[in-house]
Amino acid sequence: MEKINDQWQEVLKLVEKEMNSISYDLWVKSLEVLKVVDGVLLLAANTALAKAQVKKNHFAVIKLCIAEVFGDSVKEFEVLDPEERSQIESKLAEDEKRVEVIGERPSSFMPKYTFDNFIVGDSNNFVFAASKGVAENPGTKINPLFIYGGVGLGKTHLLNAIGNEIRKNKPELNALYITCEKFTIDYINSLKKKNNENSVQLFREKYRNLDVLIIDDIQSISNKKETQEEFFHTFNELYQSKKQIIIASDRHPSEIATLSERMKSRFASGLVQDIQMPDYETRVAILEKKAEEEGYNLDRDVVEYLAENIDSNVREMEGVLIKVALYASLNGKHFATLEDAKIALKDKMDNERSEINIDKIFNAVIQYYNVSKEELIGKKRTKEIAEARMICVYLITEMLTMPLMAIGSYFGGRDHTTIMHSRDKISNQLKIDLKLKTQIKDLKALVNESA
Ligand code: ADP
Ligand code: MG
Repeated sequence: MEKINDQWQEVLKLVEKEMNSISYDLWVKSLEVLKVVDGVLLLAANTALAKAQVKKNHFAVIKLCIAEVFGDSVKEFEVLDPEERSQIESKLAEDEKRVEVIGERPSSFMPKYTFDNFIVGDSNNFVFAASKGVAENPGTKINPLFIYGGVGLGKTHLLNAIGNEIRKNKPELNALYITCEKFTIDYINSLKKKNNENSVQLFREKYRNLDVLIIDDIQSISNKKETQEEFFHTFNELYQSKKQIIIASDRHPSEIATLSERMKSRFASGLVQDIQMPDYETRVAILEKKAEEEGYNLDRDVVEYLAENIDSNVREMEGVLIKVALYASLNGKHFATLEDAKIALKDKMDNERSEINIDKIFNAVIQYYNVSKEELIGKKRTKEIAEARMICVYLITEMLTMPLMAIGSYFGGRDHTTIMHSRDKISNQLKIDLKLKTQIKDLKALVNESA
């Protein structure tokens, strides 16, 4: 703590030189340094206005000075206004309470996700069987169970189904579902509590006394070194006492960037099982089940149309189904028809198109590969830049519907054959290059996040 305060004082000195003194005195000087967690320096502003000013006008300068003083140990910084600070703290306190009383309350699992309403087909029958096995005999055979697969394919559903089943059959077990994001916040919070030396201890007891730990979206641990370290110990403790661990991720452990080797091998020591997009028949069955649950009246061809046209994400498919029902009822109809389905799907496509644009793709590539826009669209042919450029082209062709010639014009007037060449080169390489595949996945997520 001493050290970080000293470092912050140094940052302030540098910032002071770079800014006019009025702004500095008003907004920056009073920032309070809290802590570095997972590479994020947390600063507290004493008013919301101060926060807004800092973020709007002085962010870049402070960032540079932080980098200068802290070097690699800090990658970002975050300014909290007083309300956020207390909000976050009370939210965390609630989470904590919930974890503590979990034995008595069924609240950590979402009741709507059960094995009964999970439709099984070729794409998910292995993972379904494994999940049931774990739910019936936690901590005995399959441990850990690691489920991975794309967004919206039913991972969270299965994790909660396992939890609900265990609660039903073995209510005496102390079982918890938590997202990796929440786990991280919980951990950070336990470090933050200055007045309570025991808070880290309490955090550890809470997690290490579980009989079943279900943790979702573990991929988000990738850039969080300290949380990873903590999770590693939690994992070992539970594993050694034969407690059940179930993990979900949007990718295979080997594709989680910066995950330590020892963590990867722990994950691989149980069953690593993927979940795929359901085939057409299964998609139809899922939609029918959903419509039944929600009490929608639909023509059969609505379900078929949606199952045919949406083939990468079950959640999206359900989202459009809800829209279809809504449109029909807005029009005063008791039955949704194919027409309603077509309109709902078209709306969704239009929305998506307007959310992602070429600038967002450029920005993602610039950020991810640390290149400048000039370099991306310019003529330099160094390996890194040329590669980032081709990947950028590839993403544009993948994520937008734009003529190749138009794309060329964004890259300093390159002609359409050059664009086509870049696109094909990356798409061929993708078939054999796992690392590239991960990068493209990350980039797409970045673009979508900014959309
Ligand atoms: P993920 O966690 O993999 O991103 P979710 O578990 O949140 O995906 O699933 C998204 C939606 O799709 C949920 O509403 C879930 O109930 C539904 N879903 C996915 N697969 C199935 C399935 N096989 N049967 C029934 N519903 C499913
Ligand atoms: Mg999920």
